Amino acid sequence: MDTLLLKNNIDDIRYAATLIRDGQVVGIPTETVYGLGADASNEEAVRMVFAAKGRPADNPLIVHLADFSDAVKYTSAIPELAHKLAERFCPGPLTMVMPKNERIPMVTSGGLDTVGIRVPSHPVMHSIIELSGCAVAAPSANTSGYPSPTSAEHVMRDMNGKIAAVVDGGQSEFGVESTVISFDGEDAVRILRPGAVTREMLLEVCGEVIIDPAILNEVGEGAKVASPGMKYKHYSPKADIIMVESSLADFAELVGDNYGDGVYALVFDGDEEGFPYRHLTYGADSSMQAHWLFQRLRELDDIGAEKVYVRAPSTDGVGLAVYNRLIRAAGFEVIRI
Ligand code: AMP
Ligand code: MG
Repeated sequence: MDTLLLKNNIDDIRYAATLIRDGQVVGIPTETVYGLGADASNEEAVRMVFAAKGRPADNPLIVHLADFSDAVKYTSAIPELAHKLAERFCPGPLTMVMPKNERIPMVTSGGLDTVGIRVPSHPVMHSIIELSGCAVAAPSANTSGYPSPTSAEHVMRDMNGKIAAVVDGGQSEFGVESTVISFDGEDAVRILRPGAVTREMLLEVCGEVIIDPAILNEVGEGAKVASPGMKYKHYSPKADIIMVESSLADFAELVGDNYGDGVYALVFDGDEEGFPYRHLTYGADSSMQAHWLFQRLRELDDIGAEKVYVRAPSTDGVGLAVYNRLIRAAGFEVIRI
């Protein structure tokens, strides 16, 4: 099967929605990264999503809705705090984990009795959900383990021949996946995966925001974790990634000492001046770093990088999401100078 490349126009969006309703899998642009969309209630379609990605069966899919008011159709209980958070952050890059009901099959929830619900703001994703009449299960549209896709071209590279179609909606705005939270008592939430909705933003609505230890620390494949995705190898290009926490001068010295064929650096915008080694840049601040990180990791593979020293981002605000993705891409290999 050749994968159809659809455009961002109403006829193509209608067609993509029809494909989803008919049990097919479609690559869809969202404001975070591209998703691999399927009817969340259709077990056969959801199995095709897992197969196309090569995703472990116990890693649950996030279910996307056109409006938060539809959450009652797929959950068995909605905390009061979820409504408050929805008022502030939906539509947007926030996923809330709540008890699921029988309309979400166990294949979709990875065997859990909970479901992550998100209301995307991207107009194409929103239209496809609405026109299909389905709750749309959509993990990131990459091959499992590889960096998430932030353009239709990335999706095509990973999924050509494996899914029905991809809708080209341009470059993803945020560039990292949604913030995933669960509820920890009446006024507290736990961040299971950091994203563009930051701890600081959640604190405007919640009394307490707990950062799950799995966000910054390594957990083994056998471990029991709140967010199953956290235990798998993630976001890794073919090149060996090494994260470096240091000043620019110490970073340059480290790269110089280890320089040779296939060695590259990934640095901040503004670091290039006087930096004499092969490099790419990934932004000057946390938002831009989130926007460019996955694109750059894929580019490093394209240009034949074998070993990449990366300047570690700040962990403030959206930086926590960038740091979380990078430390996994690096397989937790961090040099601190
Ligand atoms: P992706 O589909 O690639 O965006 O990854 C989805 C992430 O959300 C994974 O890390 C999952 O572990 C997490 N997630 C989705 N649903 C749940 C859930 N019901 N409980 C805990 N984590 C979830
Ligand atoms: Mg993913």
